[in-house]
Amino acid sequence: MAAKTLPFDRPLIDRIISDHPTPFVLYHEDGIRQRVRDLTAAFAWNEGFQQYFAVKATPNPHIVALMAEEGSGADCSSVAELITCERLGITGHDVMFTSNNTTTEEFAIAARIGAIINLDTPHHIDQLLQLEQMPEMVSFRFNPGPERQGNVIIGDPKEAKFGCTREQIFEGYARCAELGVTRFGLHAMVVSNELNVDALLQTAEMLFDLAIQIHEQTGVAVECINLGGGIGVAYRPEQEEIDIAEFGRGVQALYEAKLTPSALPPVRLMMENGRAMTGPFGFLITEVINQKTSYKNYVGVDACMSNLMRPGMYGAYHHISVLGKEDAPAEQTVDVVGSLCENNDKFSIDRELPKTEVGDILVIHDAGAHGHSMGFQYNGRLRSAEILFSDAGEVREIRRAETFEDYFATVDFDSVKCSRDQTAQAL
Ligand SMILES: *Cc1c(COP(=O)(O)O)cnc(C)c1O
Repeated sequence: MAAKTLPFDRPLIDRIISDHPTPFVLYHEDGIRQRVRDLTAAFAWNEGFQQYFAVKATPNPHIVALMAEEGSGADCSSVAELITCERLGITGHDVMFTSNNTTTEEFAIAARIGAIINLDTPHHIDQLLQLEQMPEMVSFRFNPGPERQGNVIIGDPKEAKFGCTREQIFEGYARCAELGVTRFGLHAMVVSNELNVDALLQTAEMLFDLAIQIHEQTGVAVECINLGGGIGVAYRPEQEEIDIAEFGRGVQALYEAKLTPSALPPVRLMMENGRAMTGPFGFLITEVINQKTSYKNYVGVDACMSNLMRPGMYGAYHHISVLGKEDAPAEQTVDVVGSLCENNDKFSIDRELPKTEVGDILVIHDAGAHGHSMGFQYNGRLRSAEILFSDAGEVREIRRAETFEDYFATVDFDSVKCSRDQTAQAL
């Protein structure tokens, strides 16, 4: 089995641990920057190509900002994410708002920021009409339903709550054009965590065909097509990442075959990848605090499912390295567990690992997306710090760990009526 390499060494981790208790998430700045550059380069052939980082994957403002420095926009699906962008000065068409089950207030905030709004359904047009001003540009999210298969993470498109049908798409554009909207986009997000380039290319082909049909049937010429996110992460050591340059060339071939000869003016392409931008560049660093054997062998660590819930929630594989023993042979089969009172609070089940001891540092790989962001406080476990390091050796805490003060901040103990008889306690 191929090993997964680490972009840092033991001295760096020792240095960080001396200031920051485990667990914490460690992000590799150069890796994230390079990923944005690679994606941008893969689409350099398309004038005006824009990647929008799906903020929900890693909503740390420092991470969103460093991607913006590399030319990335931001894809938001909630008010908190929109506010993050606004406070960073990322506004206008650098922001995409792709929501579902949306309130008029949420659209108003997106419109205030000047975001490109992806409508999940034509029903939302009535909500846009309630805004001070109808947005200049409107985009619709297409759900191909039975036309496409989807994949495990996002599920079967016809079971998915997102997007509108083919008929609704035509209706939606026609109605917006009547209402005076002059600029249009088209969007789909059909697969997530996809490692097969062909599945991603199918989405591009589907949208190019659809854009041509929309033009023919309604006269609306979309000026941009958003291919969605979905580039996967090679979570398992034997998996291979998507070759982003090859993907870009594949989309170019489809563009030249479909759109170039069509009656549509040149179309700007967009993507809104989340997972692939940060996932492989985040590492959950945690210490072994207990080991036990009952019916199975357990390695207990100081992180838990609230630091990374993908294994507990989806049975997802995350590779685990024992720091300093990356090349040591496997000597035990263990479940690596947190301390929540939930039996799915496990980072791995029946994993082969080198011999571990209390005090060892485990590195849980590919924790940079949907890790800290999915955190929660069940059992009073607090969210950890997030730390950014660079190849130049710079280390920055980009979010502090929560404290018990944070945990109790939303209750007022003084208002609690606890009438338990104090004398009973003495017994
Ligand atoms: C989550 C999400 C993305 C990002 O998907 P990835 O698979 O992380 O690239 C993009 N668009 C929308 C609408 C999303 O909900």
